[in-house]
Amino acid sequence: MHEAIVNLHMHTRYSDGSGVHKDIAAAALKAGVDVVIVTDHNILVDGFEGYYKEKNKKVLMLIGEEVHDQARDPQKNHLLVFGANREMATYADNPQNLINQVREAGGLSFLAHPDDPEAKAFNETDISWEDWSVRNYTGIELWNALSELKTVVPTKLHGAFYAFFPAFVANQPIPNTLIKWDELLSSGQKVVAIGGSDAHALDMHMGPIHRIIFPYEFHFRTVNTHALLSGPLTGDVASDRNLIYKALAAGHCFVGYDMPAPTKGFRFTAQGLAGSVKMGDEISAKNGVTLQAKLPSHAEINLLKDGLIIQTWKNQLSCTHITTEPGVYRIEAYRRYLGKRRGWIYSNPIYVR
Ligand SMILES: [Zn+2]
Ligand SMILES: [Zn+2]
Repeated sequence: MHEAIVNLHMHTRYSDGSGVHKDIAAAALKAGVDVVIVTDHNILVDGFEGYYKEKNKKVLMLIGEEVHDQARDPQKNHLLVFGANREMATYADNPQNLINQVREAGGLSFLAHPDDPEAKAFNETDISWEDWSVRNYTGIELWNALSELKTVVPTKLHGAFYAFFPAFVANQPIPNTLIKWDELLSSGQKVVAIGGSDAHALDMHMGPIHRIIFPYEFHFRTVNTHALLSGPLTGDVASDRNLIYKALAAGHCFVGYDMPAPTKGFRFTAQGLAGSVKMGDEISAKNGVTLQAKLPSHAEINLLKDGLIIQTWKNQLSCTHITTEPGVYRIEAYRRYLGKRRGWIYSNPIYVR
């Protein structure tokens, strides 16, 4: 299995980020991620896709966009678009039409920060996803690092604290988003979960304090989407891009919070009569299925079926569960970090039918 660490959803000066594409590439090389997907607001920026290299390291930069209706008040329903190969912002006024157009163009769409509460102290409004009648999107952004920040800054002082100690922010995806995801999965839809950084490298001024808060490099060491590719990255931009987008479209990926400990190497598989499948795939329940998770280091592991925990293992490296019951099965792993139990790994589901 070929695993690529993907950091996705970030902004440059083409929208409201403070950096440029080469800053992102430099930060990605330092942090050691394999792929970054840049998504400026309502613009598909041309000319930056490709490999960026430094000594013996390289990172693949892909360009998508984050589309929303700027005429709408409030400006909700942000959609991440990857691989559509053309400007999609023109369809922003109707989320379902936008999703359909992306699909027709061969692209992927993810509902960005489904729950994104207001942060009054910073004049940030609620920009959650609102139109839940939509269908046929690829998935949702289960864990968005910036939305989570908005939940922990009731005052400017809290903001200043986290600006200097950003590692204390990430805890887990917003609980409502997890509930919503499980509801969507239980309704029979396939919904791929990804984790996004929403990195802006914001330039913060507060009295005498002037600081770039949450620099790109910091984000690239925190919440990543780990994609399981059908072949190795070869250095050819077109074919590597295809490998990445195919893995994300199929849900062959998991969300890993890489700061407490690297999540690389996590696997969730199922073995049945007809062979073995991985997260994102379907398998028949007939004659029983063995679900198996393997972790790169010890953690608490929860197995969920249709949104409910059915088994927990403490301080383990692996676990197995045998079932004949159809359902949507997924794994959550937790670790203690900076004095708190924090979400570490969120797998995509295996659909036992
Ligand atoms: Zn957004
Ligand atoms: Zn964004």
